[in-house]
Amino acid sequence: MTDPGMKCSRCKEPARHRFRQHNARFCDPCLEIFFLRQVEKAIEKYAMLTPGQRVLVAVSGGKDSLALWQALIKLGYQAEGLHLKLELGDFSGVSLDSSREMARRLGSPLHVFALSDLAGCTVEEAARANRRQFCSVCGTLKRYYLNRLALELGAPAVATGHHLDDETGRLLGNLIHGHAHHLERQWPVLAEGPGLARKVKPLCRLGADEIRAYAKAHDLPVAQGSCRHSKGATLPYYQEAMRLLEQKMPGTKLDFYLGFLRAKAGPPAADAPDGVCVVCGAPTHVEVCGACRLVRRAFERRQRLAEEAAAAAAAGDEAQA
Ligand SMILES: [Zn+2]
Ligand SMILES: [Zn+2]
Repeated sequence: MTDPGMKCSRCKEPARHRFRQHNARFCDPCLEIFFLRQVEKAIEKYAMLTPGQRVLVAVSGGKDSLALWQALIKLGYQAEGLHLKLELGDFSGVSLDSSREMARRLGSPLHVFALSDLAGCTVEEAARANRRQFCSVCGTLKRYYLNRLALELGAPAVATGHHLDDETGRLLGNLIHGHAHHLERQWPVLAEGPGLARKVKPLCRLGADEIRAYAKAHDLPVAQGSCRHSKGATLPYYQEAMRLLEQKMPGTKLDFYLGFLRAKAGPPAADAPDGVCVVCGAPTHVEVCGACRLVRRAFERRQRLAEEAAAAAAAGDEAQA
């Protein structure tokens, strides 16, 4: 990836990082300047945040969220972390440790919540009861609680570590399947509204390789490993297709994404559902919001299983008598 004797494009000192998409090579200090500038540019261009404002960073413990958190602090924002414990085995413990270590390094607050405490069921129970793809159930619940917690904590905005590879992968998938609604809503900022916190993606101009380089240069305490449920997700296929195009034609990802955003008249109108969920009061287009439906089915399944177990036990007792 890097050649010995390679020189930094900015300062001509020995370089450690090479980005073909920008035809640039950087030493660690110049990577820092480049990285922060890209985050700043995204924030300014799409009017994500106001200078120095308080923002809640969704911190998973992975390289993206840790790099985002650090960058926002360096750019002068009051960035606090929010970690949702998903309780999906060893990886979840490692993820929490990384998030805590990062909070310690930054001297910033980290709010920690367990999804099972909030929902009353685990992601696994919800996925099983709804017979839906694990990642999609996990994503719906995470988005829902992230929004709710941001409102409860009084944070005016939530920042997530979605980057250029996430956005271009999603964009490709949405175009291929003609998901008009998603294409309309795809934008690096989603405006706040009644019951809806503002959502921003300050890393949208940076690729996974640039974030990885930044995390390495700073030796960020990145959680190693991956979620054991991520196998069924489809996004990685679109990202792989984008990676191939990028490899053959450096700069394709950024062109694709920025070109898509430029072709739009402006940010999508704030989502304004016409009703509220009868269970939780969150804004929704239907009677019961998506998250409450997932959780309700998990409770129903739990009750059914308990009844079946009780019936089986009673039948066993009868047979013995
Ligand atoms: Zn340099
Ligand atoms: Zn609800």
